[in-house]
Amino acid sequence: MGKLLVIGCGGVAGVAIQKCAQNSDVFSEICVASRTKSKCDAIKDKLEGKTKSVMTTEQVNADSVEELIALMKKVQPDAVLNVALPYQDLTIMDACLACGIHYIDTANYEPEDIEEPTWRAIYEKRCREEGFSAYFDYSWQWAYKEKFEKAGIMALLGTGFDPGVTSVFSAYALKHYFDTIETIDILDCNGGDHGYPFATNFNPEINLREVSANGSYWENGHWVETKPMEIKRVYDFPEVGQKDMYLLHHEEIESLAKNIPGVKRIRFFMTFGQSYLTHMNCLQNVGMLSTTPIAYEGQQIVPIQFLKALLPDPASLGPRTVGKTNIGCIYTGMKDGQKKTIYIYNVCDHQECYKELGSQAISYTTGVPAMIGAAMVVSGTWSGKGVFNVEEFDPDPYMDMLNQYGLPWVVEEHPQTVE
Ligand code: NDP
Repeated sequence: MGKLLVIGCGGVAGVAIQKCAQNSDVFSEICVASRTKSKCDAIKDKLEGKTKSVMTTEQVNADSVEELIALMKKVQPDAVLNVALPYQDLTIMDACLACGIHYIDTANYEPEDIEEPTWRAIYEKRCREEGFSAYFDYSWQWAYKEKFEKAGIMALLGTGFDPGVTSVFSAYALKHYFDTIETIDILDCNGGDHGYPFATNFNPEINLREVSANGSYWENGHWVETKPMEIKRVYDFPEVGQKDMYLLHHEEIESLAKNIPGVKRIRFFMTFGQSYLTHMNCLQNVGMLSTTPIAYEGQQIVPIQFLKALLPDPASLGPRTVGKTNIGCIYTGMKDGQKKTIYIYNVCDHQECYKELGSQAISYTTGVPAMIGAAMVVSGTWSGKGVFNVEEFDPDPYMDMLNQYGLPWVVEEHPQTVE
């Protein structure tokens, strides 16, 4: 049916590409392009003889709009799936605009260098006006709305698990279970154990920046910011058990606050063990999480990039990781004049993911919805002109595909709620 250009070939891309190849009715051609072409060739080789999709590979530096335009002109895809890093969101969107091609991603824009003066000035103004200090936010990509409308193409933002599936769960809850949703608690639990003293489950730079930042939540029309890890709760997760979880800022809070009418409070919690937090605090205290280059023996070194080189590659955790993830949302609100509470979640088993695709559950739970978002766009099931978040579309076909492609979900009525 259509041709997809996938940019990036790391942990999430590995799953997304294999899932696209399982869906060759929609993705008749798949081109994989990334900084390191050998990784693209390796996945193409892995799929040889196992898919009807025609696979090709290319090399690209996605920081360069010119290189991206040349690539898109050569490949001529119907849509681009960006599973590189959030740093490349804007360059890839610019190239899609120049070439008139739909754009899809899983994470909103943040800059690689947070000290860059032009970006910094806009960021500081936003912190004062909006009241949250995360380095990532949707303003940069939402600003492309008119340009995408004029070009007659669509950008689908944030189709991973969270954001992504959690956002689609919210649209589904509103469509089928509530007249109004009052509160949303997004709970992200990883009950997996990889056996290393310290490793991150996806790109360490992005992951550690997110976790070491201030937390925040949305309440009564404004942001409330907290210190990192200031709010802790304990929750008994179905199929995983009791875990400590901490309130974090998370990007879907920003879009759900805009797109779920009348919502009064949105919070996001993620589980962390004490050992992970102790390691992270230590690394932060010694400056290893800094993104500011330092001079070391005649070279410029970015501490967090050096740390990334030392840590296990998230894509290599698959064979070692055992246990399950449970990610979902608890909703409270009103239906037919009655108070109602439901919990929609997915449980994913690390070893099952590894057996199927050679990946751990974090990449799996992101890569599957990345494929589904791309399928919605390429098949025309979701269409529009402009820039959209996933909760703005009909959730039903996406929810069906989650069941079909390995992320079945459960709706639980009367769940345990979070204080
Ligand atoms: P990885 O670091 O494993 O992979 C990133 C890939 O992008 C690598 O192949 C890398 O190339 C490539 N890349 C980086 N910079 C460039 C560049 N300038 N030009 C071309 N290619 C480049 O990351 P993940 O797979 O873990 O994460 C991918 C995305 O998914 C991220 O944006 C992350 O934030 C997002 N994500 C979203 C989640 C969600 O639920 N919504 C959850 C988890 C992740 P190379 O191989 O050469 O290093």
